[in-house]
Amino acid sequence: MNDIVSPQTRSRMMSGIRGKNTSPELLVRRLLHRIGFRFRLHMKDLPGRPDIVLPKHRAAIFVNGCFWHRHPGCRYATTPTSNKEFWEAKFAANTSRDAANYEALARGGWRVAIVWECATRTSEERNIEEELSNWITCGDTTLEIPKVVDGQLPAFSNLPSPTTDEPS
Ligand code: ZN
Repeated sequence: MNDIVSPQTRSRMMSGIRGKNTSPELLVRRLLHRIGFRFRLHMKDLPGRPDIVLPKHRAAIFVNGCFWHRHPGCRYATTPTSNKEFWEAKFAANTSRDAANYEALARGGWRVAIVWECATRTSEERNIEEELSNWITCGDTTLEIPKVVDGQLPAFSNLPSPTTDEPS
C-alpha cells in the first residue's frame, strides 16, 4: 500500500480524536467496564504507565498505536520516505523503550497485554472483549491482539518466565 499521507496526518488518524468514544483506548475501557472489570488508568508508578491496569489480576494493558509503536507486519506501521534516518532512530528508541517497560513489568510480577490500534478498528468488539476477558481471568503472562500467527511479539521474547523465578 502506498504512503499517501504525511506522518503528521497519519499520527492524527492513528491516534484517533481525543475525547470521543471512537478512540481505541476508550473502546477498550468501555468494553472492560461493560463486562464488569475494575481498573485504573495510567498508573504513573508502573513502568511505561500502562493505559489500563487491573491490580487485582496483576494485569497491565497497553493500547498501542501501530505507527509509533511499530506493530510488526501491520500496514499502518509505515516508514516515512523523507528523513528516513530520523524516523528509524525514533522508532528504534520507541520499540526498545517499550520492550524495556514490558520486561520491567514482568519482573515486577505483572502480566502484560497489548491491544494494537488496528484491532480496535477492524475486529468485532465482542472478539476483543472475549480475548481480554479470558486473558484477565485465567490467562498467560502476555497477550497480543490481534494475535500473531507465528511466534510472538519480539518485544515479548525477552520477558522472564514466571516459572523460572527464584524464590526471594
Ligand atoms: Zn496494527
